[in-house]
Amino acid sequence: MPKRDYYNVLGINKNASEAEIKKAFRKLAKQYHPDMNSGDKAAAEKFKEVNEAYEVLSNSEKKARYDQFGHAGVDPSYSGSGNTNTGFGGFGNFGDFGMDLGDIFENMFSGFGGFGGGSRPKNQNIPSKGANVEITIGLTFMEAALGTKKTIKFDRYELCDACSGSGSEKGHSPSTCVDCGGTGTIKVTQRTPFGAVSTSRTCTRCKGNGTVIEHPCPKCSGSGSVRKSVSLEVSCPAGIDNRQIFVVRNQGNAGHKGGPAGDLEVLVRVEKHHIFSRDGYDVHCELPLRFSQLVLGDEITIPTITGKVTYSITEGTQPGTTFRLKGKGIPYTNGRGFGDEYIKVVIEVPRNLNTKQKEMLREFAGSLKTEKNYAKRKNFFEKLKDDFKDAFAF
Ligand SMILES: [Zn+2]
Ligand SMILES: [Zn+2]
Repeated sequence: MPKRDYYNVLGINKNASEAEIKKAFRKLAKQYHPDMNSGDKAAAEKFKEVNEAYEVLSNSEKKARYDQFGHAGVDPSYSGSGNTNTGFGGFGNFGDFGMDLGDIFENMFSGFGGFGGGSRPKNQNIPSKGANVEITIGLTFMEAALGTKKTIKFDRYELCDACSGSGSEKGHSPSTCVDCGGTGTIKVTQRTPFGAVSTSRTCTRCKGNGTVIEHPCPKCSGSGSVRKSVSLEVSCPAGIDNRQIFVVRNQGNAGHKGGPAGDLEVLVRVEKHHIFSRDGYDVHCELPLRFSQLVLGDEITIPTITGKVTYSITEGTQPGTTFRLKGKGIPYTNGRGFGDEYIKVVIEVPRNLNTKQKEMLREFAGSLKTEKNYAKRKNFFEKLKDDFKDAFAF
């Protein structure tokens, strides 16, 4: 019997989209599903044909070959791949399909939003990375800015050395789960108005492991891992800031089934510094200077996170002036540069003057002239006079 054209089988044209192909298949598969047509050989034949067509047209690679070479392009005797197409022909009953109907329906519905498929249980039988461990450490401002090494203590799950993580007592090994045959999942097929819908659930006997431990290791009670307190030296990267996390690879909990260990995530709390504050990678500092230093100018010593630097302030520097020291801030955590340091000049007004000092200061103050010595003051009060006319006399 010559094979029918796959597009005709599904009742679509050659330009049908993926969604249209799927839709057509879904409709026909429901119509001819053996569950709906008990004992109807013609329906079973149709069903087989529909599945075969969909098998090819839903696979972009096979579809391309079919479009180019017709049936010869996808016939098993040409491809030699021994795939599910091979099972067709000469079947007498439902069981001979060579294709799991549950699979068909699972694949079919999983693309349609929440019908049956979607949330497959995770196969825990394959190697997977262990869970991350999170800890918090405290650093001083300088430790965070410049980087440091810290020895930290924390708890994590490590592979049990008595059973090397297998969970079985010495001389025994886990046996394949009889309920799921080692797959870790159990397929459940339900009848619905749309036909049989198959879903998978995690096997309860082996909890998805695929194996059952009949002789548990006495040290880890069969879990394969034991909680251990460890002490580890870690390098805190220079430039890290408060509430940031750095990661130490593979120092977390042991992996499963030979998978790598999880990571250690270190959350950093940084103490405040008594003179420096931080904004990103920039350092800010307020520098109290003497009145006379600002009046006369001076060579001043400025603290930075890596030591002191000298800086010349010019005669008549005003309080509130901010200097920038380029590159004197905190190193970038990526190692590609530094922030800046900003120094804000503040005046410390002298207290506790004696009588003689006060007299000298009064004499000095009396010698100053607004016009000559206080440009800002002059400007300020002239503007004020404009605003208030004769209300104020200064
Ligand atoms: Zn053990
Ligand atoms: Zn099982």
